[in-house]
This record gives sequence, C-alpha cells and structure tokens, in this order.
Amino acid sequence: MTATAPVRLQDVAPPLDILPYGRPFIDDDDIAAVCAVLRSQWLTTGPAVEAFEAALAAEVGAADAVACASGTAALHLACLALGLGPGDGLIVPAITFAATANCARFVGAEAIFADVDPETGLMEAEHVAAAAGRAIRAGIRPRAVAPVHFAGQLVDLQGLRAQAADLDLAVVEDACHALGAAVDSEDGAVRGRVGACDDSVMTVFSFHPVKSVTMGEGGAVTTNDPALARRLRDFRGHGITRNPAAFADTAASRGADGRANPWYYEMADIGFNYRASDIACALGRSQLDKLAHFVASRRAIARRYESALAPLAPLFRPLARCSGRAHAWHLYVVRIDFAAIGCDRATLMRSLAAVGIGSQVHYIPLHRQPYYRRRYGEVFLPGAEQYYSRCLSLPLFVGLGDGDIQRIVRVLADTLATGCRP
Ligand SMILES: *Cc1c(COP(=O)(O)O)cnc(C)c1O
Repeated sequence: MTATAPVRLQDVAPPLDILPYGRPFIDDDDIAAVCAVLRSQWLTTGPAVEAFEAALAAEVGAADAVACASGTAALHLACLALGLGPGDGLIVPAITFAATANCARFVGAEAIFADVDPETGLMEAEHVAAAAGRAIRAGIRPRAVAPVHFAGQLVDLQGLRAQAADLDLAVVEDACHALGAAVDSEDGAVRGRVGACDDSVMTVFSFHPVKSVTMGEGGAVTTNDPALARRLRDFRGHGITRNPAAFADTAASRGADGRANPWYYEMADIGFNYRASDIACALGRSQLDKLAHFVASRRAIARRYESALAPLAPLFRPLARCSGRAHAWHLYVVRIDFAAIGCDRATLMRSLAAVGIGSQVHYIPLHRQPYYRRRYGEVFLPGAEQYYSRCLSLPLFVGLGDGDIQRIVRVLADTLATGCRP
C-alpha cells in the first residue's frame, strides 16, 4: 500500500438524511483529476488508463493490471481469457454477488454453487471439493474456481490452492470486496496482498461506487501471466489486435517489403467493448492514492462496531474473523438471532430505516435465484442457508462517525429492551 495520503476532510458530498450501508468518499483531488482529463484531448484509452493500470499493479504487487468497464466485465474477461465454454464449470460460493456466477453463463459454461462457512461467509477448500464432485456427477467438467474474499476478509487461499491443484482448477480470485486486504505477517510487513496473484492466475476487482475505491463504474483484472494479460486486453477491445507480431494473416497484413501495413488490424477472436475511459481511470488513480487511508479508516470503524456490539452477544455477533488475515472491511455484516430477539429481519430493517439507518442483506444465496433454480433445480447448501438466515449489513463507509456507530448499535439494543416496532 502506498504511504497514507493526506485526505482533506472536506468531504464534498452533501450530507444525507439516511445513513446508507455504503457510500463513496470523493474529495477535491478526485474532482481535479477528472477535470484535468476533461480539459485534455483524451477521454478514453489514453494516458490515464495506462497510469491507472500501472498504479494498481504496483499497489497490489502484480506484474500487470488490465482496467475495464466494470467488475462484471472483468469477470467475463477472465472467463474468456481462460477459454471456458460449454460443458465447463466455474465453482463459485453461493453467497456472493450474482456477477461472480453469471460470468460463467456469459461464455456458455455452468456456475457450480459451493457452500460457505456460516460463521464467515467464506467458501473453503472442502466446499470446493464437494461442489466439484456434484458437478462431475452431473456431467460438467469443473475447470476453474472463483473464491470471493467476502466482506473484505481473505479466503484461505493456500488451502484452496492445494485443493484446486488436486482438481486441476484454475483459481480466479473475486476480490471485488477486498482491495487492501492482505495476509498478515508477524513482523508487520505487508505480504500476500490481494491482487498479487500469489495463489491464483488472475484477480478481479470492481470500482463501483459502493466499493472502497471507485471509478464511477469500472473494474480490473490483475495477473502475472503475460499471455493472459494479452488475451484480457484483446477481449476488452472487440478481439482486435494492432500488434504486427500477433497478425496471423501475413498476406493481408504486410507489404512486399515485409513491413506491416499501417492501416491493418486483425480480429482474431470475437470480443467486446469493455474499455475503461480515461475519465474513470483518472478518478480511480486519484482514489487509489487514498487506499491506505480508506482501509485504515474502515478498520477503525470495524473496531468500534466490535466493541459497541460486544455487550449484545450472542444475539448480535459480527462475522467470525480468521487469524492472520488483514481485513479490508467492504461490508460490516452482523449475524442476528432473529428468533431469539423476537423480531424478524424485515421488521428490523424497517425500524432502522425509520430512524435513518440503511441496512442490506448480502446476499440472497445465488442457487435460490429463479434463473439458477430453473437451470440447476434445487441445490442443498446448509452453510449458505444458515448464513443467509442471520446476516444483516450495517452502514460502513469512510466518514461514518463514532456517534453514528453508537446510535446504530443503540437502535439494535433497543429492540432487545422494547421489542421491535414495525
Ligand atoms: C460488485 C461486485 C461484482 C461486480 O462488480 P461491478 O463493478 O458492479 O460489475 C462482482 N463480484 C462481487 C463479489 C461484487 O461485490
């Protein structure tokens, strides 16, 4: 992570009358960075894209980063780069955003839903093995696995990597929640940063405004494999290459003197327009400069929640933490024993909203979604079901104050004292 940038505290966003569960932090430096692009001649695929890609690669410690239009586009590009197609399976946790699974369907492959640990929401190696077995019995060939660093906490990637190697699966990390997370080391040095691809072939990020660093809309894939990086860039831009060294059709691409024709480009494959603009990348780079500050601030908020919630245990409990992993805190998820508190989730969410506190459920298990139920029928994943029955995400964003946290936890405590008011 780069040195902590001095962030001026005049958050330029207007005050909100409701605390959302997440919101971006935009300051004057971000605005200036975007304005500078608007005053230049490049609005897309210019110097700001390359600068953002270089900054992201350096930040996470990967050889290369490929910026694109969204986290969803990044996942799709990763599936294309791996060459997944019909008959292939991508193993994903049932508790994640829809795009983690949908990218398999985009390329004609199947999403294979794995269970999660109900205490953490994380898919671990044994869940991957069970999902792979189920897929093989159904005639699907599992080829890749997309672990999700849920809420910003890292999956045990070393355990998962060993399992993936046994099953001959490529590992693509969905780190859309986890920019800034790392494997903790005893000596305090940052090691094992997410995105470095130490235990995976590619790592995917989203820069949607609800994520901790934003580009408005945007995403990226990091990798250490130059061949994958090339494929990601080709698929990002219509499948077209302008690199003479990659031209297959020499008759059309070269003159009699053997030199590449100046107008020539070649569409070797069918691709997409998944470019990120210079406008978005300038914002992303300016935001990246503040990552260390953002992560420190999110960690401080999480610590305050933890101590404020401690007296409400075991009825309200934060997600379990795994030791040795430095959390990026995209979401603050609390597990709530709704039966014991005598208040169902909808009523609790409505009573929070009535006093200006937003909350959300991350996520409805994907195998329950009508599209996937139609495609795969009923799937039994008890860890995901148990997790889903208890989870609620409370507000977590840079700028959330101590007083806000005290107020949020007081509303939760009040439901215990006075019952839940719809
Ligand atoms: C946000 C998110 C995505 C998709 O990112 P977009 O930029 O919104 O397309 C994918 N996976 C996870 C886990 C996410 O949270």
